[in-house]
Amino acid sequence: AEGFAVDAVRKDFPILGDFVYLDSAAMSFSPEPVVAAHLEFEHRYRANVGRGVHRFTRIATQRYWHAHEKVARFIGGDAGVTVFTKNTTEAINMVAQGLCWKPGDRVITTILEHHSNLLPWRALARQGVALDVIGINEDYSLDLAALEDAITDTTRLVAVTHASNAIGVVTPVEEIARICRDRGVLLLVDAAQSVPHMPVDIGRLGCDFLCFSGHKMLGPTGTGVLWMREAIIEPSLLGGGMIETVTEDAYVPAEGYGRYEAGTPNVAGGIGLGVAVDYLEAIGMEKIRRHEERLTTRLIEGLSAIDGVRVYAPKDPASRIGVVSFNVENIHPHEVAQYLDEEAEILVRSGYHCCQPLMEYLGLPDGTVRASLSLYTTEQEIDLLIAAVGEIARGR
Ligand code: PMP
Repeated sequence: AEGFAVDAVRKDFPILGDFVYLDSAAMSFSPEPVVAAHLEFEHRYRANVGRGVHRFTRIATQRYWHAHEKVARFIGGDAGVTVFTKNTTEAINMVAQGLCWKPGDRVITTILEHHSNLLPWRALARQGVALDVIGINEDYSLDLAALEDAITDTTRLVAVTHASNAIGVVTPVEEIARICRDRGVLLLVDAAQSVPHMPVDIGRLGCDFLCFSGHKMLGPTGTGVLWMREAIIEPSLLGGGMIETVTEDAYVPAEGYGRYEAGTPNVAGGIGLGVAVDYLEAIGMEKIRRHEERLTTRLIEGLSAIDGVRVYAPKDPASRIGVVSFNVENIHPHEVAQYLDEEAEILVRSGYHCCQPLMEYLGLPDGTVRASLSLYTTEQEIDLLIAAVGEIARGR
């Protein structure tokens, strides 16, 4: 019924043990093939990329380049430019700083955003760029009508999350993309919480920029991706590796991703990210999505049934990911999380989830407790969390 054998999958994750890990939205674990790829790099061919001709650099260059191809194919983005970054934050900042802004330009974002998809746009105020922040409805869905209304002739870009890392709601990105295309506005999608958990296809989404993190999709830390339909931004970093030719007073930037990856990149990380993509594809994103959807429903239903527990989640299973925020009446979220760790060996996140404006908007001054799932999460783990939260609520 799982669609794939979770127990077999769990054997690939050497870190898994006698604890329940429900913080994959902050960071996922890496399976053995990803770890092995790093070791192989260190033990067999560690070298810089795109520099020189010796055998190690040839292997490293080929694999690093191939990893870009794998990631591009994974998101259906072969036709665009796939740049490796440190993380989602860097990817979003590269776009915010790389577009050529004029005073009076406007950017639209939403109240759902992670600070990383808010602060880079807010900082553009220095260049005279104004920011409009769109709210959400009672059911946590994005206020699409308000977004449409907010677009003016001077709106240049809409920056929206595909799935909220705080309350798990999925946004109607395809519809937003249609609106943006009609109005000649660029669309950036923060896919940090969608790419690891559901099939994401650029061809269907129709955005201009897609940003996500490798460390949330089984990849190494310090890896992320900026996909662009076209290379329309200026590189924020200049230097080695990003040029075709340099003369005394000019340079010709490299074609493709190279232009945006100045300096020695995270070679092992990039190669590892390619292996993470192989791993996800071998299981299948549809299957992963169904597995997580089923467990998410089980978790929301279980927690909602507990007296004194309030769950903040969209009702429609198709409009939510495996990120479930909740609170226990009269107990601080950090206290709940600490109890879960110390008394039940359950690791969850607590606090604002880097979404402080959203927490304020929802009237949650202390934030929430957040359980987030992954492909290696089991039904039994969900039940352990429900039971432990039940204990806390009864003792309140
Ligand atoms: N956006 C969303 C939706 C996220 O969940 C996160 C990570 N919590 C980020 C952006 C930032 O990602 P990173 O820390 O990898 O830059």
